[in-house]
Amino acid sequence: MAKRDPVPAIRDHARNIFDDLLDAISPARCPGCGRRGALVCDTCADALAPAPVGAPPPPLAWWTACFAYQGVARELVARAKYRAERRFLVPVARVLAVALEHAPPFDLVTWAPASAPRIRAQGVDHGEVLARAVAGVIGARVAPCLVRAPGAAQTGRDASARRAGPGLRAVRPMSGAVILVVDDVATTGGTLAAAGRALLQVGASEVLAATIARTPGPGTRSRGAAYTPGYSDR
Ligand SMILES: [Zn+2]
Repeated sequence: MAKRDPVPAIRDHARNIFDDLLDAISPARCPGCGRRGALVCDTCADALAPAPVGAPPPPLAWWTACFAYQGVARELVARAKYRAERRFLVPVARVLAVALEHAPPFDLVTWAPASAPRIRAQGVDHGEVLARAVAGVIGARVAPCLVRAPGAAQTGRDASARRAGPGLRAVRPMSGAVILVVDDVATTGGTLAAAGRALLQVGASEVLAATIARTPGPGTRSRGAAYTPGYSDR
């Protein structure tokens, strides 16, 4: 693994200590309704809709997602990822692990790195944190495999630019390996597809993807569907 810049590492460490303190002094609040005492209360868990059905964007061979990206799931992703609340990160990683029980076998877990300005601003690459948490839960190997070309973050780009995905390049040969790319959300699937192209280019035999949530497609029922652990498109 590349040597880490000590400043973000120290900031990370401080943030973790702060999170632990927060956990100790304030009980969890449900991200859906703010009720104390549950990571996600039963009512809000019932409102979590399964990820919409859809074939993976080429060249991905398979993908899965836990939830539709709406309502409580959006807030859950925000807390687990952008606010790096570790008490959400680990349960979310566990739910992803359930979704992955139906995955084809894979050799290695990786992530699509965030843009350099975003990592600088947030002090950590949350995609990496999530991928490492998931790999930890399922006992899989995890390694950085991709670097990002300089350019805008996916968030805020127009739809066609998002579909094209960020410029990603693999950093090592992947001869014959099946790689799982973990990310928080798939919207157009552009980032995952870009990761897939870069990994296949260096010899990966297949690229799979797993996300916490996926945006509902046009006409997808948005409410009332029960949460289905391990829901998959296959
Ligand atoms: Zn709730």
